[in-house]
Amino acid sequence: MPPSRLFWKIFLAFAAIGVVAALALVVMTLRWERERLSIEAETRLKQAAALVRPIAEQAFGEETAQQARVRALGEAAGVRITLVDAQGKVLADSSVATAEEVAKIENHRTRPEIAAALKTGSGMTERASATMGDQTRYYAERIDAGGTRGVLRVALPTANIELQLAALRQLLINWAAAVIGALLLATYIIARNVVQPVVALRDTATAIAAGDYAQRAFVPSNDELGQLGEALNRLSTELGSQLSELRRSGQRQSTVLGGMVEGVVAVDDRQRVLFANTAAGRLFDFLPPKAEGRPVLELIRNHDLQRVLSQALAEVAPKWTELEWGKLLLTAQVTPLPGIPCPGAVVVLHDITELRRLEGMRRDFIANVSHELKTPLSSIKAYAETLLNGALRDEEHNVRFLERINEQADRLNLLIQDMLSLARIESDQQSFEIARVGVADAVAACFDQHQSAAEAKSIALVTTPPSDALFVRADAEGLREILSNLIDNAIKYTAPEGRVEVRWRRDGERVRIEVIDNGLGIPADQMDRVFERFYRVDKARSRELGGTGLGLAIVKHLAQSFGGDVAVSATPGGGSTFAVNLPPA
Ligand code: ADP
Repeated sequence: MPPSRLFWKIFLAFAAIGVVAALALVVMTLRWERERLSIEAETRLKQAAALVRPIAEQAFGEETAQQARVRALGEAAGVRITLVDAQGKVLADSSVATAEEVAKIENHRTRPEIAAALKTGSGMTERASATMGDQTRYYAERIDAGGTRGVLRVALPTANIELQLAALRQLLINWAAAVIGALLLATYIIARNVVQPVVALRDTATAIAAGDYAQRAFVPSNDELGQLGEALNRLSTELGSQLSELRRSGQRQSTVLGGMVEGVVAVDDRQRVLFANTAAGRLFDFLPPKAEGRPVLELIRNHDLQRVLSQALAEVAPKWTELEWGKLLLTAQVTPLPGIPCPGAVVVLHDITELRRLEGMRRDFIANVSHELKTPLSSIKAYAETLLNGALRDEEHNVRFLERINEQADRLNLLIQDMLSLARIESDQQSFEIARVGVADAVAACFDQHQSAAEAKSIALVTTPPSDALFVRADAEGLREILSNLIDNAIKYTAPEGRVEVRWRRDGERVRIEVIDNGLGIPADQMDRVFERFYRVDKARSRELGGTGLGLAIVKHLAQSFGGDVAVSATPGGGSTFAVNLPPA
């Protein structure tokens, strides 16, 4: 295990407490023992003094033989006995052999215990003996019987005590060393056992914090640390699954937001971008990841958006507006985010340009249809009314009026048929039989169909086939309708004596069929529009020629249904050229 701070903290703290406790125990035991030995010495001295006291009292009365008796007593009691008179003169001392030697002993009046005994009745001191030199404990008692006769002093060398204490100290120190050693070992093992699982838990927690949810804490014990390890493992599993669920739902969300056609921009309460999806970036020409944190109005400079955004944030209520962005027309729906105070808002931007265009087209279509139907109907009604008002009997005109009614009814029929077929093609309801269709045959069939109309205007119908027969992938009936419409128009809008030519050739991946006339031609600025429904360059002329204004719209949709297209250009020298491109077969 690498050295851990926690380990050292626990180890050093317990070791310090153990060492201090062991040393304190040694010191206190030594003190207590010293105290106990001191009291024992005192007691012994006092007991000795009490034993000797009657003999001493007696001895003070005698002039001789004092020394011999005192010596004998001292030896019997195992203490040193000294008799001192009131002036401090030593009368007898058990530590010397003869009276002559006693006489040589210096005056003891100033000895602290003797001075104290003379003054207070008793005195106890411990000091080095001036006479003997050893560390000694002295106890002195004043002996008086009607006046101070002297002092009885008993003394015991304390060297023995010190020896006992030294032995005890050594014993205790050895014991303390052993205890401290055992304590350090135990502390080491305990600290390691406590710290090891803590380190394992720390490593797991660190791994979890770093996002590694596979890491598991292994704490074999069943105690609180073991339970903590289990809890941490459960937490890690739970966190891991929650995070992956969160990631999945985040991915789902960003996939949904990224795949949305609508632009979505989330802003905070200060109108700074929190999130913008790809569609928003595309609409307003910015990179969504770089938009985060920027003021939304820096990216979308639009007064209407600013107004609704500020209103929605201020009133904490959804707001809606339409706004123009270049050529686009957008709606902006601003919804405040939930929370108090309001943390921001989500702006959903919807491009309604195409919708509005289609709405306009539908409006125009209805207006056009009404208008187209109104003209023949008005004629029919006018002729019918004229007939009813008496013209029926007018032999000269009635048949002509009925012919007109019939013509207008035919016109209505043609119009309705064209409208129905256009609607069918547009709504994909028309089922085509796509097959290999020979262009030459289709052109020949159409020429046959329009031969009489061409001859009536002395228009030459010419084909210029390529050397190889060409085939296209189309519905045979549909291709004939395309060609028929174009040839019909070419004849209609070409002056008598004109020329209509049909050419076809391979053009890259397509077969290009051209219907070329040298007729009226179409002004360049209207070329794109002739394929719109009901669009006519010259309305009056078209109607006069029985046109519905739907022919080219049908051609365009049919060509597209076969995977091709159609375009118009001016024929050099005057007239129009319609080119249909179709996939080859
Ligand atoms: P219409 O039934 O009026 O012919 P189309 O959709 O076929 O309707 O044609 C739309 C308009 O395009 C015509 O009214 C006419 O003004 C113009 N147009 C079509 N073909 C030709 C052409 N070959 N030459 C000149 N103008 C043409």
